[in-house]
Amino acid sequence: MGPTTYRGRFAPSPTGPLHAGSLVAALASWLDARAHQGQWLVRIEDVDAPRCVPGVDQTIFAQLAAVGLYPDEAPLYQSQRSTAYQDALDQLVTQGLAFACGCTRQDIAQALAASGQARQRHGERVYPGTCRHGLHGRGARAWRFLTENSQQKVPPPQLTQGLGAIDSIANQALHWPDRRLGAQSQNVSQAVGDFVLKRADGLWAYQLAVVVDDAAQGITHVVRGQDLLDNTARQIMLQQALCLPTPQYLHTPLVLGGNGDKLSKQNGASAVDTTHPVTALQQAGQILGLAANLHADTPAEWLRQAVPLWADQHLKIRA
Ligand code: GLU
Repeated sequence: MGPTTYRGRFAPSPTGPLHAGSLVAALASWLDARAHQGQWLVRIEDVDAPRCVPGVDQTIFAQLAAVGLYPDEAPLYQSQRSTAYQDALDQLVTQGLAFACGCTRQDIAQALAASGQARQRHGERVYPGTCRHGLHGRGARAWRFLTENSQQKVPPPQLTQGLGAIDSIANQALHWPDRRLGAQSQNVSQAVGDFVLKRADGLWAYQLAVVVDDAAQGITHVVRGQDLLDNTARQIMLQQALCLPTPQYLHTPLVLGGNGDKLSKQNGASAVDTTHPVTALQQAGQILGLAANLHADTPAEWLRQAVPLWADQHLKIRA
């Protein structure tokens, strides 16, 4: 890949200002883009409108600017992208890879109990496949991706330019490399089940939106927090089903709060303090294992020094 083809992104959900953990993801994605002499985009993931806070996008841009991180293009807003998501869903339905689901949470719990299964994952039940072959006379609520046996319907991996490869035998694990964490695999059908593409409340699911937008923006490299690692197999499956390229993935270390939990807006992480921008960068850099020997008076100077350190850690040595 030539250096100019690299396109990376930072994709915050505007549910609150950036906290220390989200700054790490922003910084890492920016450093990776600069180390590749590539472009760095910001995408506002405001698809879950009820959770978004009006005006927080501007706070996020101001926080990024305070630490010297400026996007190379105007930001993309997922709230403007419904037509593209609907087109992708229509394509999957036509291919027989997405189906309408009429199940409530209670229906899913009952079906699992009746079959003697209690498959749960992160507190979520693994969908038992109830509506895979029809709605049983009920109305459509959500739309789901058909994970089981879908492998036979998707194009062969060489057509997708992707790094992930779906095994030709149905229902085996999907394997892909993470640039920091090494070889990864997940059997989506078993671990997650037929996941939601469009929710019962009419909102687009993160998985579909992120895959459609990464492709539309020509993203070649995804650098994001390790809390999102578990979504990657689902996203690669969707890319393959939609004949979209698979980016390279790198998941960054998480910032843990005092109690050892990952920092998140949900558990009340406070906004990152950018009144001392070099200190904020230094702290984020420490999480990335970069900051030990950096001495800078301005964010721009700190960033200039950090790019080659990042490149040493994460770019393959080129002749
Ligand atoms: N919007 C997601 C978040 O804020 C990140 C999505 C991604 O980087 O793929 O956690």
